[in-house]
Amino acid sequence: MDMTRFVNTFGRYLRQKYGEKVHKVSVNASFTCPNRDGTKGIGGCTFCNNASFSPGSTKAGEISEQIRQAQEKVSARTGARKFIAYFQSYSNTYGAPEDLRRYYDEALAQPGVIGLAVGTRPDCVPDPVLQLLSDYQAQGYEVWLELGLQSSFDPTLEVINRGHNFSDYEDAVTRAKRYGLKLCTHLIVGLPGEEPEDSLVSFDRVIALGVDAIKIHPLHIVKGTQLARQWRKELVRELSMESYTDVLTKMILRAPEGLLFHRLTGSGERQYLLSPEWAMYKWDVLAMLYKKLEANLSVIQLSR
Ligand code: SF4
Repeated sequence: MDMTRFVNTFGRYLRQKYGEKVHKVSVNASFTCPNRDGTKGIGGCTFCNNASFSPGSTKAGEISEQIRQAQEKVSARTGARKFIAYFQSYSNTYGAPEDLRRYYDEALAQPGVIGLAVGTRPDCVPDPVLQLLSDYQAQGYEVWLELGLQSSFDPTLEVINRGHNFSDYEDAVTRAKRYGLKLCTHLIVGLPGEEPEDSLVSFDRVIALGVDAIKIHPLHIVKGTQLARQWRKELVRELSMESYTDVLTKMILRAPEGLLFHRLTGSGERQYLLSPEWAMYKWDVLAMLYKKLEANLSVIQLSR
């Protein structure tokens, strides 16, 4: 199953650019989130249990040691020698620029680390932070700013308690582009109150703003979240694998040339995931997607 026949994957982009495999290694810098500490909201997004987002990542602690341990594991499995330090847990720009610089510098000082991917919220990227990231990029590092959006519909953002709206995202994208940063946006298919096809509208709106990459996954209902409580009361519907792969196929078919897909689905961990069960089987999801893309091969060839 060679997904790169149909999809501009992040892995292929990195291989072509650096002439070898480059892997992300997760870093937990013990950030928190303005949607949890009361600055923007309390309780966080209704689907959020950060432990479930990056179950394989190391615990908070010295960044250099986290990276060393993760590199050792990834290298043993894949032979990779180059890495991107992925600041993934919580909001990784939520701090004073001088503190952020210390964390990012420590990560970049590790042998084999060629860049940073920094995940955060759209309302948490003031200009000094964008300047800092852009300085790293100017020094030749591979730098990605990953903005969580999930949906472009304000009523949905309210239902899931995101604590920001679509215009915050538009503002963040516009400013980040002014600094020349590469941008990836996270979207979730199957959010409460949305039909799967609504994610196509969000996809189109995000693409229209000129982002470089998309990261997408189906809604995971995980333990310890408000969403889990709603699901137990049958207030939330679960998404089917069929619907998810239908929507994803449509996104790939309409993706502009050059758009990268950083992720095509999540991999729900048994210890956290309540529903949908199929989200645990990433390879089944990708196999179904692959079949649908193959069935649309002529459309893909015509449009590229
Ligand atoms: S913004 Fe991210 S870290 Fe904060 S509550 Fe939402 S999903 Fe969790």
